[in-house]
Amino acid sequence: MKYFFAPYIISIFLSIIVFVVYIYSNENVINIQTNEVFSQYYLFNSNYQWPVVGYNTITSYFGYRQAPTSGASTYHSGIDIAAPVGSNLISSITGTVIYADFKGAGGHTIIIQNGNVEVAYCHVDSRYYPSVGDKVLKGQIIGRVGPKNIYDVENNPYKDKNGNPTNGATTGPHLHFSIKIDNKFVNPLEYVNE
Ligand SMILES: [Zn+2]
Repeated sequence: MKYFFAPYIISIFLSIIVFVVYIYSNENVINIQTNEVFSQYYLFNSNYQWPVVGYNTITSYFGYRQAPTSGASTYHSGIDIAAPVGSNLISSITGTVIYADFKGAGGHTIIIQNGNVEVAYCHVDSRYYPSVGDKVLKGQIIGRVGPKNIYDVENNPYKDKNGNPTNGATTGPHLHFSIKIDNKFVNPLEYVNE
């Protein structure tokens, strides 16, 4: 009689284990499905990759604004994303490098083109320029955020309040990011997902 209840206790115990395992395995299935849905959503809704992974603070939006520094446009052709010097720049699209040079108010600039789309990265570090003609893939690192002050451009008209030459019209390191479609600037936030 001593072990009369033993089979019942063991079977209840086993049932609990089976139940817990069932819950856990179901949870995993749900998680995997959520992730798959998420990645599909991401791919289907963003033909453009966010240009600086890990940084998504926008300090200036697309459109009309007060010029933050002399020489900067009151019509802002792109968005400014706060990111420290040296941050990796990611190609938003698969395409070809058509420009890697100093470009006036934009300072050191990289432009990637694919058909009627041009994506530009301004105030970059010229030491990490890709070569014009390079084919790049969406998601590939193509450069780095540049410093505020640069000394590698002759007769640079852009200067800070101390008279030191700057990386175009800029008050500090950041990425100016723009998208042109059919030769017209569009609001990048309507195309890229953070
Ligand atoms: Zn800007």
